[in-house]
Amino acid sequence: MLMNHHYLKELKNCQLCPWKCGVNRLEGEKGACLMGLPEVAYTGLTPVLQSYSITLLGCSFRCLYCNAYRISQYPDSGWRYRGYVKPEVMVREAVGEFKSSLGRDLGVKRISFTGGEPSLHTPYLEEVSRLIQLQQPGLEVGVATNGFCTTSTMKRLAQLSNYINFEIKAWDTELHQAITGAPVEPVLRNAKWIAQEHPEKIRVFRTVVIPGINQAEVIKIARFIAELDPTLPYRLVGFRPHFMLYYHPAPTRAYLQNLVEECREAGLEQVDFSGYYPGSMMSFSGHNGLKTTYQHLNQAGCYRKPRNCGTCPENHHCPALVLEPWTNPPPG
Ligand code: SF4
Ligand code: SF4
Repeated sequence: MLMNHHYLKELKNCQLCPWKCGVNRLEGEKGACLMGLPEVAYTGLTPVLQSYSITLLGCSFRCLYCNAYRISQYPDSGWRYRGYVKPEVMVREAVGEFKSSLGRDLGVKRISFTGGEPSLHTPYLEEVSRLIQLQQPGLEVGVATNGFCTTSTMKRLAQLSNYINFEIKAWDTELHQAITGAPVEPVLRNAKWIAQEHPEKIRVFRTVVIPGINQAEVIKIARFIAELDPTLPYRLVGFRPHFMLYYHPAPTRAYLQNLVEECREAGLEQVDFSGYYPGSMMSFSGHNGLKTTYQHLNQAGCYRKPRNCGTCPENHHCPALVLEPWTNPPPG
């Protein structure tokens, strides 16, 4: 029992994300995210970001393309990870890594919280950040989020961090629900808030581009960001076949370059892309992203439409849990 961990007391009535489950996560009650205590999957130094990354378990979404589905669908995924780590222990480890020869060689100067969706564990993020700043004043803190949290939680993320990687998965709520299992409105509201109140904290807005499913969303999102501030950075990330979309084609370099150009024409000044299929051809039929998404969901075992994982009566035993994606045949 961890009842003496005062900093977690709000988890007795969890209201951190728009599902507002009100469950007592400290006593083992499970809300839509299935998380109890904040749990760590793993940690490590990441050279590109010059960062010490803390990857947290659990997610408020069930994205059908998730490339970390064993983490996001935890504990249903059945994989076992590190679990709850006291903040003071996490900080001790992090500081040890900063001072290690590898940490010094890499010039590590920040910690970053990723997942899963780290905002499910906001009190933990705050406590680790607070303690580490006591030992390493000036250390930067980063958060990668899907933006699906309450306004109050978003303000706390902005408060505790120096930069935020903010993912917007779709623009239309019907498609966003089909892809993630959750409505888009809180995500767009938070994106607007951070762009207006703390644009300096936005490291990047990003969208994973899934050909035949959400490519038309990219331009809508680009226009949305451009209207807020055309200098805000936007990155397109090439989808990699995974989870429920294990047999769906990935975008080529030319495909992403075209979309980048369209985003620039929509008014954005800083657009780039990363990750693409190294071939020159993509083969897929159909351009009805919503229909294709529901075909994949049906194939995986979800027949809810509209898909809304937060209120779904099966969300504690989701039938669309794909443990070994390669055994799931593509839609016919
Ligand atoms: S889904 Fe959201 S409100 Fe519900 S328990 Fe998880 S973090 Fe809390
Ligand atoms: S069955 Fe319910 S919980 Fe599972 S993916 Fe479908 S809507 Fe979400």
